[in-house]
Amino acid sequence: NTAVVLFTSDLRLHDHPPLRAALGAADDVVPLFVRDDGIEAAGFSPPNRTAFLADCLTDLDEGLRDRGGRLVVRSGDVVEEVRAVAREAGAGGVHMAAGVSAYAHAREERLRLALEEDGRTLRVHDAVVTALAPGAVVPSGSDHFAVFTPYHRRWSQEELRGVLAAPRTIRVPDGLRSEPVPSREDVEKAGGVSDGLARGGEREARKRLNAWARGGLARYDERHDDLAGDATSRLSPHLHFGTLSPGEAVHRARAVGGPGAEGFVRQVCWRDFHHQVLAARPASATADYRGRHDRWRSGGRADADVRAWKAGRTGYPVVDAAMRQLRHEGWMHNRGRLLAASFLTKTLYVDWRVGARHFLELLVDGDLANNQLNWQWVAGTGTDTRPNRVLNPVRQAHRYDPEGSYVRRWVPELEDVEGSAVHEPWKLPDAVRARLDYPDPIVDLADGLARFRHAREAG
Ligand code: FAD
Repeated sequence: NTAVVLFTSDLRLHDHPPLRAALGAADDVVPLFVRDDGIEAAGFSPPNRTAFLADCLTDLDEGLRDRGGRLVVRSGDVVEEVRAVAREAGAGGVHMAAGVSAYAHAREERLRLALEEDGRTLRVHDAVVTALAPGAVVPSGSDHFAVFTPYHRRWSQEELRGVLAAPRTIRVPDGLRSEPVPSREDVEKAGGVSDGLARGGEREARKRLNAWARGGLARYDERHDDLAGDATSRLSPHLHFGTLSPGEAVHRARAVGGPGAEGFVRQVCWRDFHHQVLAARPASATADYRGRHDRWRSGGRADADVRAWKAGRTGYPVVDAAMRQLRHEGWMHNRGRLLAASFLTKTLYVDWRVGARHFLELLVDGDLANNQLNWQWVAGTGTDTRPNRVLNPVRQAHRYDPEGSYVRRWVPELEDVEGSAVHEPWKLPDAVRARLDYPDPIVDLADGLARFRHAREAG
């Protein structure tokens, strides 16, 4: 007998419950990936993530081949393709990981019905995409936690399942049609891929996890906010595509122990937190979680401000550095994300959805749960318990980039300005200033703050 494993956001062989269950239930397994028209039509496959995905699929196929199998790739409507493959293979059932978005819920339901019509079963596995399944812990009287701290407390008390080893062998039935596994080079040729984009794939993820556990993890608590030090794990794209299991990352960090590991595990918990919010409130991907009615600025001057923000030409060096890192690497330091998002939503008072869309265009880890709900958190429309706090980009720059090295790395127009003076180019002597091809600030911070306070008090 045969089972199909549909891979989605879990492109790995280690710690993979659907694969483990399929191998336990059937002699032959079809590892399937569908390039889903629905995801592409929704504009959710921009070049950076498509390139990284190609690496992940190539590596998954190689991992399967090392074990005697291969990856079957199809494209089209995901439900129709899974159904067709299950029929061709004569499979009794399909296994997949549970997703959290509205799209993922609908996909599961459509798939369940279609397979049932054919007399087949769908088994959806929890705690694959997250360490703890959404809904596994809930506060009394609600279906999800709306505040991080109590969630973190409960989450930390739960025992995560043990890490599952990768299978040694996999037998894939002969004769199944497969499209070629997409190649990163082809995606790059089509254009739009950031030149500093990281490499994807499970092997790369495991190398990075190993290096992280032996190296940077120990000092994560002291160094995670150091913009120039770049001392975070950079595991986010791997967690997004599931080339690394979040549960395994937690177990691994806990085995190392200490304050660095504790801080890192807390961040992985933030990831679970946002996933459980989205799973319970799928509309929060686009609608304000708190149901606020901000009358965000738009049109005319606001549009020009958004263009300057996207281009990294706001005149606030640390914001511009972060925005350029995003374009160049398809990734941005967390402190940069906080500053860039606060600047757009609070200082410029522009709708968080405008910023979130731009991030999703470029971020290799661009993720509906983490991106939209972090944007809402920063905009004060989401789960932040202090929704009206505003980050001052100049003070933050002095604090988290004290030497100015992060700014000089990403804003070459300012590379000759020494030390922390780089954070306030408007204070440089006129003669020096005149030689810099760098804009004046597009907004006065005090004016931005007054506008925001006024708007929030009125609302
Ligand atoms: P580390 O600091 O090493 O943290 C380890 C892991 O914990 C990360 O890989 C990530 O999976 C998780 N994590 C860390 N911080 C957060 C957080 N605040 N919320 C949720 N999970 C977290 N993260 C994404 O994965 N995808 C996104 O699309 C995304 N968009 C964001 C947008 C904004 C406006 C902000 C403020 C944050 C966003 N984040 C997003 C969260 C965070 O910035 C990144 O996860 C982090 O910078 C990734 O780098 P790292 O892997 O080195 O993180």
